[in-house]
Order: sequence, then structure tokens, then C-alpha cells
Amino acid sequence: MFRWAIGALALITVASRSVAATDAPKNLSIHAVAASVYVHLGAQADASLENRGDIANIGFIVGKRCIAVIDSGGTLQIGQQLSAAIRSVSQLPICYVINTHVHPDHVFGNAAFVGPDTEFVGHSHLPAAFAARRENYLNALTRVLGDTAVGSVVVPPTILITDTLELDLGERKLTLTAWRTSHTDGDLTIFDAASQTLWTGDLLFIERTPVIDGSVRGWLTTLDELSKQRPAHVVPGHGPVDPPWPQAIDAEAHYLNILISDVTSAQRNGRTLSQTVETAGLSERNQWLLFDNYNRRNVTACYTELEWED
Ligand SMILES: [Zn+2]
Repeated sequence: MFRWAIGALALITVASRSVAATDAPKNLSIHAVAASVYVHLGAQADASLENRGDIANIGFIVGKRCIAVIDSGGTLQIGQQLSAAIRSVSQLPICYVINTHVHPDHVFGNAAFVGPDTEFVGHSHLPAAFAARRENYLNALTRVLGDTAVGSVVVPPTILITDTLELDLGERKLTLTAWRTSHTDGDLTIFDAASQTLWTGDLLFIERTPVIDGSVRGWLTTLDELSKQRPAHVVPGHGPVDPPWPQAIDAEAHYLNILISDVTSAQRNGRTLSQTVETAGLSERNQWLLFDNYNRRNVTACYTELEWED
């Protein structure tokens, strides 16, 4: 495992006035990764009553004219707390809520930001993914989080991205890039030119086991392209900010390549999927958190994808 220091970055804890539930934590910690770029780090865990679904990295960037939110958290409540954190820093309007992809821990806070000034931004594949998964996601959220999930709804994007799009926050330009099917079929990255900060969404997992919900081959190609970029700061979808770069990408690519290698060899030896999930990828088991929760699922995705290549 790598180790990082957040160093001299300011740590700001913000009182949340908008959450009524008595047992809800009253604040959401945010810190500045760079000037006017703020991140809240989610827990490195699966969603639970204990963490209230607060498991993804979310945050915002403040321009001269307005603010962009990048992912909104796993529930309406977290979105409301993020909104309160934003208001402790700036009163400018929130002009964009950008969703890096469809997964519930990144999008269910959207409802906290619905208003006349705010556009919701996502990959062109995001609306179909929301439509297909909305019901299952909401059922699962309620099952796991109970009352904490109340009010969480899907808010689909109003601005869609098929390749790249520039958004201007006022003397602050963000470049959004839509990627080929990788972690999911609708991944976006966001690059803030002023601070040279790259938000990767879940194209990059740090410490936590990466989850294949798209294409292992596509993801590796995307990682190769990302590794050629030279950002000053990196915000991953999960785990500490500013990981060693591009070594953090290499670690993730290594796991994905091990899966391909193990699954390919199992298929060549006539092993079934149920046999392969018991062995593939296990050499990486000590490198990643939550490995046993996700490796079998990843092997299954990989097996199915590679099965069609011959
Ligand atoms: Zn994800």
C-alpha cells in the first residue's frame, strides 16, 4: 500500500443546518486539494447504517461566477450536507452538478441541488443507465440504509457529453471527457485547468478493490490514456487524494491484467465460471480493501467479456 500525507491542506468542518434526522451527523468534513477545489472523502467501506452511505469521494470547484459540484453522495442527506459545506465557503450559485457515473454512492445526493440555476451533467449513456437501474438502486438503498435513504431519488442529467465538453465557472474552465466503456458504460473525468486537478471518478480506485461494471479491456485502454496525463492533483472516486501518479494507475491496471491473465488461462483449460471465480485474481488479495466482496464479481464480468473474444 502507498502512503500519502494531505500535508498542509486546510481541514474545514462545516455545520449542516439542513438535516432534520436527530441521529444524523451534523457535519461533513471537506478539505482543499488546491485553491477553490474541495473534496469530501467517503469511507472505504460498503454502504451501511454506520456510514450512512457516505462512501464515495465528492466535492466542488468554485469559479468567479458559479460553482460545480462533482458527484453528490449516496443519499439526499449527504447531498444536503455537501450543500451546507459549499455555503460555508461561497454563496455563488451552483451552476452544475456533474455525475462521474451511474453508481448510487455518487449520484443520490443530486436531489439536494435541484433548482432553476442548476444543470445536471453526465455521460450520454447515463440516462439509459439511470432508467435501467433506478428501481433496483432505490430498493437496495432503502434496504441497507432505511430511513437515512428517505428522499433519495434519481435526478437525470440535463447536459449530456459524448466526447468532451468545456464548462466555464467564470475565469475557471473545466474540461469534461466521456470515456469508452470502462468502469461502467458512462464514465466521465473532469479536469480543472486552473489548479491542474484531475477528477477521475471511479476510473481510479485507491486502496479499495476496483469494480468492473463495464469492460475490463476498455478500462485498461482508458487507464493507459489517463496515465499519459500529468495533473498536479488527482481526486480518485475512492481513497486518498493525490496518490503517486501514474503508479496508482499502474496498481489498478496490474489487478485488471492479472484478472485477464488468470481468466484466459482458466478458459483455455476448460474451467467453468464457477470454478474460475474460486481462483482467479487471488494473488492480489492482500493489495486491496473489500477484496472478498468484489473479486468474484469482477472475475464473472471478466470471464463473460473474454468468452466472446475467440
Ligand atoms: Zn463506481
